[in-house]
Amino acid sequence: MFYTSTRDKSVKVTAAEAIAKGISSDGGLFVPVEIPQISLEFIEKLIPVSYIERAKNVLSLYLTDFSEEEISMCVEGAYKKGKFSSDKVAPLHKLSDTADVLELWRGPTCAFKDMALQLLPYLLTVSAGKTLKDTQIVILVATSGDTGKAALEGFKDVPNTKILVFYPVDGVSPMQKLQMTTQEGSNVSVCAIEGNFDDAQSGVKKIFTDREIEKRFKENGLAFSSANSINWGRLVPQIVYYVSAYCDMVESGELKLGEPMNVVVPTGNFGNILAAYYAKRMGVPVKTLVCASNANNVLTDFLTTGTYNKNRNFYCTTSPSMDILISSNLERLLFHLYGDNDAEIRELMKNLAEDGKYAVSGEVENKIKALFAAGCCDDDATRETIGKVFSEEKYLIDTHTAVAVKVYEEYKKSTGDSTPTVIASTANPYKFSASVLAAIESEIKADNEFDMVEELYEKSGEPVPAQLADLKGKEPRFKGVCRKEDMKQVVFDMLGL
Ligand SMILES: *Cc1c(COP(=O)(O)O)cnc(C)c1O
Repeated sequence: MFYTSTRDKSVKVTAAEAIAKGISSDGGLFVPVEIPQISLEFIEKLIPVSYIERAKNVLSLYLTDFSEEEISMCVEGAYKKGKFSSDKVAPLHKLSDTADVLELWRGPTCAFKDMALQLLPYLLTVSAGKTLKDTQIVILVATSGDTGKAALEGFKDVPNTKILVFYPVDGVSPMQKLQMTTQEGSNVSVCAIEGNFDDAQSGVKKIFTDREIEKRFKENGLAFSSANSINWGRLVPQIVYYVSAYCDMVESGELKLGEPMNVVVPTGNFGNILAAYYAKRMGVPVKTLVCASNANNVLTDFLTTGTYNKNRNFYCTTSPSMDILISSNLERLLFHLYGDNDAEIRELMKNLAEDGKYAVSGEVENKIKALFAAGCCDDDATRETIGKVFSEEKYLIDTHTAVAVKVYEEYKKSTGDSTPTVIASTANPYKFSASVLAAIESEIKADNEFDMVEELYEKSGEPVPAQLADLKGKEPRFKGVCRKEDMKQVVFDMLGL
């Protein structure tokens, strides 16, 4: 099994090379040359086994240059008992007649990013052992809030790695910020940038492909990699939970083996929903992929019209991890839908870089419409949805999950589609206490983050994750803020170059 670049089809690398590099040097993203196929018998065998066993089976189809022992070591380390607050790792919660919520936030940092970022350090260490001898890996991360903490937690004190996270100074929730700035570990660093997530992400991508930096790194025995979802090692673990969710839907009797499910995903960088697309392409019976956006609805417009246009207002919403106008992983989808035509992708990405927009061909637009539905939900509707789900279902959801629930309700109303549906739930509600509390309580007494956590607990009875409660009173270690032009210098300073 080999991987190629979305911008240069002559590239041919192993999974280990793709994961160790993170991004192709032509600026393209690594994609599997062929998507492995699974049968219903394969799925049936996974129904009675644990998440760890499901993960080993799915990952071994993609990581064909890893030995069975290597895959076992990685997966068992990532998902071992006690790391996630559910023995099922990613359990389903029944929400309504037709919908189940897939709780992807039961890991150490309380967001779905843990599903991949608990595993990535293992995958990267094994990959580097195969491809980069005597090299220290420098992980650069741009985060809209949750990736940063999950990556720091995954990589802290991992030998032969250093990690540096950039987050938008005004673009994350107070809890997200505190989680990152108090991070422990001897190989970690965190810096805020004056700008939004898109600025952070393009800054990081620029550093990755800068020839001068690459040269300086080589001389010093260093190499970059990425913990963002541009790295294949971030995406492949996410495919597992869609296979696992299907198994659980069959096990609970909500589906008969072979019957289709819909999947609804609150989307920002298009990584999570792309994993669901790969699961469908592999043979998991998935009918429609429903892409849910907040007020930053560039994807809703793209998936319904075929034109991507990032030239629009950027909104800071109550679901900050989805405040994104340039969704990197769309590039991978386009590559597959264009029949692996790298020239087309180069052209589209050039248009995006130069004009901030592009339009896909009519044929690709039709393919997109056959696969995806899309909708968006503003902050008012997000708040109403949290309140409604709490009062009617006695279930507390965070702002991102609420966007997905609302878009699903509208989808179901407008299409009449009653196919059993899995809604991805991407964060624990306590990561966004102020917004969640405001949705279920009209007169808030608390005036600081931890009093809000307490008040939300009193009101909802939902247990507070210890790893969030423990941040109270903790002194930040990382207070730096830089301009986006200075990101390169921050990298050099951290490494003492
Ligand atoms: C990252 C994130 C998202 C968006 O996921 P993508 O893979 O970037 O589309 C949604 N919700 C939460 C809570 C997140 O942390």
